[in-house]
Amino acid sequence: MSDKKDLVIIGAGPGGYVAAVRAAQLGFKVAIIDKRSTLGGTCLNVGCIPSKALLESSEVFYSTQKHLERHGVKVSGVKLDLPAMMKRKDQVVSTLTTGIAGLMRKNKIETITGSARLIAPGRVEVKSSDGKTQLVEADRILLATGSEPSVVPALPYDGKWIISSTEALCLDPVPEHLLIVGGGYIGLELGSVWARLGAKVTVVEFLPRILSIADTEIAQALHKSLEKQGIQFKLSTKVVGAKVPPGNTGKVQVRVQPSQGGDEEILQADKVLVCVGRRAYSAGLGLEALGIPVDPRTGQIPVNEDFETPVKGIYALGDLVAGPMLAHKAEEEGVAFAERLKGHKSIVHHDLVPSVIFTWPEVSSVGPTEEQIKATGKPYKVGKFPFMGNGRARSMDETEGFVKIIADANTDRVLAVHMFGPNVSELIGEMVTVMEFKASSEDIARICHPHPTLSEAVKEAALAVSGRAIHI
Ligand SMILES: Cc1cc2nc3c(=O)[nH]c(=O)nc-3n(C[C@H](O)[C@H](O)[C@H](O)COP(=O)(O)OP(=O)(O)OC[C@H]3O[C@@H](n4cnc5c(N)ncnc54)[C@H](O)[C@@H]3O)c2cc1C
Repeated sequence: MSDKKDLVIIGAGPGGYVAAVRAAQLGFKVAIIDKRSTLGGTCLNVGCIPSKALLESSEVFYSTQKHLERHGVKVSGVKLDLPAMMKRKDQVVSTLTTGIAGLMRKNKIETITGSARLIAPGRVEVKSSDGKTQLVEADRILLATGSEPSVVPALPYDGKWIISSTEALCLDPVPEHLLIVGGGYIGLELGSVWARLGAKVTVVEFLPRILSIADTEIAQALHKSLEKQGIQFKLSTKVVGAKVPPGNTGKVQVRVQPSQGGDEEILQADKVLVCVGRRAYSAGLGLEALGIPVDPRTGQIPVNEDFETPVKGIYALGDLVAGPMLAHKAEEEGVAFAERLKGHKSIVHHDLVPSVIFTWPEVSSVGPTEEQIKATGKPYKVGKFPFMGNGRARSMDETEGFVKIIADANTDRVLAVHMFGPNVSELIGEMVTVMEFKASSEDIARICHPHPTLSEAVKEAALAVSGRAIHI
């Protein structure tokens, strides 16, 4: 048994490891447990980081073939070296996960590898892969066990033909036909990777649109753009079953039909990637026995403003609790949790957590969709500016997309910002900052933005809220 800690954390993802570092900075004696031998959780091992590494590499491959010529650069014989691409991705992941281990050492946080379970308040049992168990005791326990891919009963994962995002990060060879079930951001990002590398990609979505929680205008723009890139969509369609081939070769036969019922159709695919959302990873932690309720639909558990569950001394954050399942949300909660433990009054504004989709062009947003704002009945104004009118976008030859700012019609306060365009992942931070300071569109419009940069499109959209954009 390790010596008693002030805080033991189960799960070393962005929620857990950030909470560990901040708590250690504040003087708490901390241990962190993860069943993975590498730290960083879903985000670093099988989520944000490997997917972005592949998005980057596949975009380089794609644009070398499709876009270099218009810049006056001629290339021939461009070839894909998939093992080298995967190796680079693995190196990016291993550099970052090793870095987290270094952060733990620097902050004197004890790291324990094994699967953890609560046996009583203040007591955690950890089972390592060799079957040995150890007891860890602490005054407080933080659960940061994250989430796992949701299951579609008609499509049970087998890791070979019917796969989750984890396997989709290391396919070899490039599948001839990748069928993706679910038109959310993870499916669209991974679909973009494999489409750029040469796969035929079909997205089957139950609803009549992709990105069900995004602003409709933005989702439509991305849909159109991805179609132009060759991705096919079957909307308002559900999967009713699948038959996998008996041996190592062949195709998966996927039965689909209109969401509201109707004639079935059979689609053949080399791989079926199921991306229908994620479920909080609360199973096997021993929660029910301690009286911590688990939402049967989402797997999430309730917490108060201190991130404390209904059981005193047991806390939870990140994907395991309500709110967007995003790494930066988990990190913010990690900091706020540790600071509140110390008596600070830190809070996370969940309504100002930005979201990004790393397709090309990218999508980024903060705040409610226009449809949600309309539904409140509150009068609002919209300012839009297309990247076609932006000098930097023109010089990059990346003019697709626009910035959309929604402001309160009476007070001019910015209510939401939605963007679709080149590198808009890097533009949304400014919008979160100004919204945290309760900015009006006039505030943004009067801030000097450097020329020529994509950020001028944001200023122009703010000017457009009151009908005075300059370059359109
Ligand atoms: C393909 C993909 C792409 C993504 N891209 C993005 C993105 O671009 N941006 C973004 O913000 N988010 C992205 N996400 C979501 C992001 O990864 C999660 O929101 C984030 O990792 C949640 O952090 P967390 O700390 O709550 O949990 P996690 O990162 O899931 O970490 C939980 C950890 O707990 C461990 N654990 C679980 N149970 C136990 C147990 N009983 N004992 C010991 N250890 C346990 C797990 O091994 C895991 O390491 C992506 C996810 C996926 C799958």
